[in-house]
Amino acid sequence: MSLDERFGAHNYHPLPVVIARGDGAWVTDVDGRRYLDMLSAYSALNFGHRNPRLIAAAHAQLDRLTLTSRAFHNDQLGPFLAELAGLLGAQMVLPMNSGAEAVESALKVARAWGYRVKGVPDGRAKIIVAASNFHGRTVTIVGFSTDPTARSGFGPFTPGFVPVPFGDAAAVAEAIDEDTVAVLVEPIQGEAGVIVPPDGYLRGVRQACTSRGVLLVADEIQSGLARTGPTLACEHDGVVPDLVLLGKALGGGIVPLSVVAGRADVLGVLRPGEHGSTFGGNPLAAAIGREVVAMLATGEYQRRSRELGAHLLERLRREAPPSVRHVRGRGLWAGVELYPDGPDARARCERLMSAGVLAKDTHEYTIRLAPPLVIEKADLDWATDRVLEALV
Ligand SMILES: *Cc1c(COP(=O)(O)O)cnc(C)c1O
Repeated sequence: MSLDERFGAHNYHPLPVVIARGDGAWVTDVDGRRYLDMLSAYSALNFGHRNPRLIAAAHAQLDRLTLTSRAFHNDQLGPFLAELAGLLGAQMVLPMNSGAEAVESALKVARAWGYRVKGVPDGRAKIIVAASNFHGRTVTIVGFSTDPTARSGFGPFTPGFVPVPFGDAAAVAEAIDEDTVAVLVEPIQGEAGVIVPPDGYLRGVRQACTSRGVLLVADEIQSGLARTGPTLACEHDGVVPDLVLLGKALGGGIVPLSVVAGRADVLGVLRPGEHGSTFGGNPLAAAIGREVVAMLATGEYQRRSRELGAHLLERLRREAPPSVRHVRGRGLWAGVELYPDGPDARARCERLMSAGVLAKDTHEYTIRLAPPLVIEKADLDWATDRVLEALV
């Protein structure tokens, strides 16, 4: 911890625990203490720590080939793209590494589509975003954040983004004009505190986009891959986005792997040399991604998320002490918001850590819970007991 503090940039404020091993939903610190991981690296560990299927796929690929660059083909990328497209019902897939890169890629694709296909005059493309969004940390992305901590001191920013209130489809429809090329939205806002929009919100945004020839880009980097129950959170509203962004759990908690997936007539606007990434589409990540897709194709993780999630949310709602203002969530994903008159969420998470449960505060008074989808029900109940005690 002192080395992190002395030599590391101070862009995080971690809980004082040093993890040395992980197995499923559990981690062990350097002193041998065990903790239940109720954060899952912000959903990058949906399949748990060192999931045996994913570790085996990674080992096998490490012994064959790790990196080629996109200057050449490799024998894993094509099958990965095809299998992921099959899982999602997408026509084309663009592989990248981090989530922020997938978002940046989608913004570039949407703008290029706007100029080349929709016919927006050069330099005028507009993209509508939601207030309290979180899409990553690049200059362009924080430029359209509405969170002062994320953006202050990092300007000047990229123009061309229009924030409207989250959860208000009419506001999206009103903000669309002839220069609008896309609406970028999280189906459920994760970093904002697991904010679930009103029923029909996404359907309304979809209708507005379709009727005005605007792309719907769903950022499912945190909400996707079974975290909320279905493979994509958009499915709750029966909505198919034009482009969907995936990351986090797509790399199995082993490597960074993100994609933009969707319509071929949109992603197809990119020409050789216009976009790329040295590590994007590397065979190690692709081999792991193929195993992630195969695991999701069974439906087992979606079922666990639905069933365990319903149980978790029901218990939190029924047993929450008076300190709790709201319990929000969908699938195995909960935001517990506290009244601001008691200890803040950070203090509660420190207390939880002492009780053997790792969770993360967000925005001062919300505790976010997102255990690995492989968690056993008895372990989930044990952790829920600890959470309820820490809320008193
Ligand atoms: C985490 C996240 C990102 C950014 O992903 P990184 O891999 O950290 O760059 C983008 N969008 C959403 C919704 C996220 O939760």
